[in-house]
Amino acid sequence: MELTDINTIKDLLSRNGFSFSKALGQNFLTNPTVCPRIAEMGGCRRGTAAIEIGTGIGVLTKELALRCDKVVAVEIDKRLKPILDETLEGFGNIEIVFADVLKTDLSALIREKLGGYEDIYVCANLPYYITSPVIMKLLEERLPIKAVTVMVQREAAERLCAEVGTRECGAVTVAVRYYSVPELLFRVNRGSFMPSPNVDSAVIRLDTGGAARYSVSDEKLFFRIVRASFSQRRKQMLNPLSAALGIDKAVLSDMFVQCGIKPTARPEELKMEEFVALCERISAK
Ligand code: SAM
Repeated sequence: MELTDINTIKDLLSRNGFSFSKALGQNFLTNPTVCPRIAEMGGCRRGTAAIEIGTGIGVLTKELALRCDKVVAVEIDKRLKPILDETLEGFGNIEIVFADVLKTDLSALIREKLGGYEDIYVCANLPYYITSPVIMKLLEERLPIKAVTVMVQREAAERLCAEVGTRECGAVTVAVRYYSVPELLFRVNRGSFMPSPNVDSAVIRLDTGGAARYSVSDEKLFFRIVRASFSQRRKQMLNPLSAALGIDKAVLSDMFVQCGIKPTARPEELKMEEFVALCERISAK
């Protein structure tokens, strides 16, 4: 069954009385070239396992299962079950968990269902309404995964893969760089989906497999600093940071100088190393 064929999809959905849920970000891929590329560029091959978030009718699930030894997918919408039973029939290496990924203990899921696999990759066409929380969950929980290859809204892709210290950078950019090496792989236009969203998309890959590039003595403080600094992205960060941390402005300003940061700096001007240095200086106070 060709799962990117519009008539096949329409027939499948109407036979099962399925209607798209906008609230769940249900835009299903109809461009046949995209899923094989996600699977391949995402690292899927014999001997590896994949985790998918949001199966839809199984178009990417199938491509992952053709390449990996095992696929575990988390899908929130139980209405898709009879459809997936039909579209993925015959695949013995796919397990679908019907649950909200944000409420799923992914460490336990990996332990229980993918124990024994050294190379685990996350591949997904993410529901856009939860792009950042899903990515942060995957990174912050320090799961034993080698890479996260996901389709997201194009603007989000550019923000997630931006260099720290540029205008495109936000708090999430710093977080992504802290945990991984990001790369924007390719763009996908809005016409590649059914129904068509109002925005274009892009596929990014976050490599999480290498050694940690940065380390700080207090990660919680590091992310408080980053969030507070970017709370007014285009403005000087001294004021919001002083308010959020309860540190007197003059004292904080001295700390900035000790770290080689101008007291008038805006968050988008700081490099990763400067955020790290500032965190260490503040935690030593
Ligand atoms: N992979 C399919 C494709 O590429 O055509 C579907 C992608 S669609 C953009 C997003 C999918 O994520 C939908 O199937 C939706 O039901 C599912 N989803 C939405 N919120 C979710 C959540 N919190 N946890 C797990 N799945 C979710």
